[in-house]
Amino acid sequence: MSSLAHSTETFATRLAHIEEVIAAACRRAGRPRESVRLMAVSKTHPASAIAEAVAAGVTLFGENRVQEFQAKSQDLAALGVTSAQVHLIGHLQSNKCAKASEIFSAIDTVDSPHLAERLQNSAASLGKTLPILVEIKLSEEAAKTGLAPEGDELRELLARLPDLPHLKMRGLMTIAPFTGDEAITRACFQSLRRLRDTLAAAHPRLDFSELSMGMSGDFEIAIEEGSTCVRIGTALFGPREARP
Ligand SMILES: *Cc1c(COP(=O)(O)O)cnc(C)c1O
Repeated sequence: MSSLAHSTETFATRLAHIEEVIAAACRRAGRPRESVRLMAVSKTHPASAIAEAVAAGVTLFGENRVQEFQAKSQDLAALGVTSAQVHLIGHLQSNKCAKASEIFSAIDTVDSPHLAERLQNSAASLGKTLPILVEIKLSEEAAKTGLAPEGDELRELLARLPDLPHLKMRGLMTIAPFTGDEAITRACFQSLRRLRDTLAAAHPRLDFSELSMGMSGDFEIAIEEGSTCVRIGTALFGPREARP
């Protein structure tokens, strides 16, 4: 989509288009449409953009910075938007766990046993149970964050999670490498799914039902490979301005 198209289309039009593409990918994969959730990634866009998306029927959002969403959540309250579910999808530093536990409805980027312990403590002191995903790094170029699939840290985290009652493990998330090579992207999503199947068999006390994978450029492939949550920013909200 060109930026001109973005400036003349409404959010509702772009949403309808994405919905069609998701439905078609589900049909190709022989999956029910309800098996894939659409997360609208609203990072860098103002609270008014979230309000517009909520009005168009979106209920699930992703934000990648604690401070940015802290400001926006106040704007959203002022706009009277209270129904949006917002997940943290960016790296979380452990000194921001308390704030993150307070303002987000889930943390999709847990990437160390230490972070899980900190989140457990902050969720406990808020009296809430926080759904989490474990972020996996499947290639060097894909992302700076996430746990190696074969590493000790992942093993340690999964062994610890059943004893952290304020965290509710829901599954795995990953970011595919930005190569433009469909075969590489597909292989990445297939590895996350296989890893999930292996880990789920080895850890019957943990829930691995969620596979958060797929962004604007690769969500159709992700759905074909089993994604249960696609995280779409640019294709819904238009291009983001570069950050300093
Ligand atoms: C920004 C972001 C997205 C959305 O990216 P688009 O390419 O704009 O759809 C998805 N997931 C994560 C983790 C992100 O940081």
